[in-house]
Amino acid sequence: MQAISKVSSAASFFRCSRKLTSHQPCVSQLSLRKGFVSNGVLNLFSSPLKALCNASGRSVRVSRFCSASNISSSLQIQLVPCLADNYAYILHDEDTGTVGVVDPSEAAPVMDALRKNGRELTYILNTHHHYDHTGGNLELKDRYGAKVVGSAVDRKRIPGIDIALRDGDKWEFAGHEVHVMETPGHTIGHISFYFPGARAVFTGDTLFSLSCGKLFEGTPEQMLDSLQRIADLPDDTSVYCGHEYTLSNSKFALSIEPSNEVLQSYAAYVAELRGKKLPTIPTTMKMEKACNPFLRTGNMDIRRVLGIPETADEAEALGVIRRAKDSFKA
Ligand SMILES: [Zn+2]
Repeated sequence: MQAISKVSSAASFFRCSRKLTSHQPCVSQLSLRKGFVSNGVLNLFSSPLKALCNASGRSVRVSRFCSASNISSSLQIQLVPCLADNYAYILHDEDTGTVGVVDPSEAAPVMDALRKNGRELTYILNTHHHYDHTGGNLELKDRYGAKVVGSAVDRKRIPGIDIALRDGDKWEFAGHEVHVMETPGHTIGHISFYFPGARAVFTGDTLFSLSCGKLFEGTPEQMLDSLQRIADLPDDTSVYCGHEYTLSNSKFALSIEPSNEVLQSYAAYVAELRGKKLPTIPTTMKMEKACNPFLRTGNMDIRRVLGIPETADEAEALGVIRRAKDSFKA
């Protein structure tokens, strides 16, 4: 049985209103033309979107246009669910056929997705060293001869690393400029990959939809700085994070900012998506700035609920919000 008719991501929440379908996509895909053409009007989230479903081993593509496109790129981004709640992302440049994968926690689902499209693999991009982001590195490298790209800071902890990048480096993926942003806090050597031409950022475990990563190796100050750097990206940037945590994150966010109406709507939308086993990713910077408590550390409602004094600085507030999240039971 073939199925799919609608795109399923939280990014589409701000794009246009629509009814959900009850299909279960295994892969969703955002296709953008190379070149970044702006029409001079801020038409957010207006790219043609395609969705794939392999529920029966067959795929169906559906294009969707909600408004005039302002982004043009030949980069396709394909979401690949891995492990219990991880996402890897396959990058495909339509012009050159170059393929990369971001954070392959395991090799098998990535190889499956590549095989179905008759593709090889040139690059493996890692946001950080954790096993659930690098677990597939060596097997994929061995199978395809792909080059592993990761943080120079964490060179010793990224399996098979070939290309070590630092903050501010401009790397190229098949002609697409990639800005390397060091975004420590979750781990010391965490990096995010920003593709300005496609208005897409891969944030690993630094920025999630409605939350941020746990502070395993860094400080609240580092995480705040990292999040602020990501939040400085344009509002219409699509955010591809490492995990599907949005539903539980929405419950925590609502518990500390119940009167945020955008959050209320988004949380309902997320619940609907997850009720149909649809992904909530990508989200957008606009959505996160409006709803993510870790980007709203100055918000007085949040501070009141958590007893954070008005005089506390934003890093202090972030630390309190993070500790509250760590102990929150949905
Ligand atoms: Zn991690």
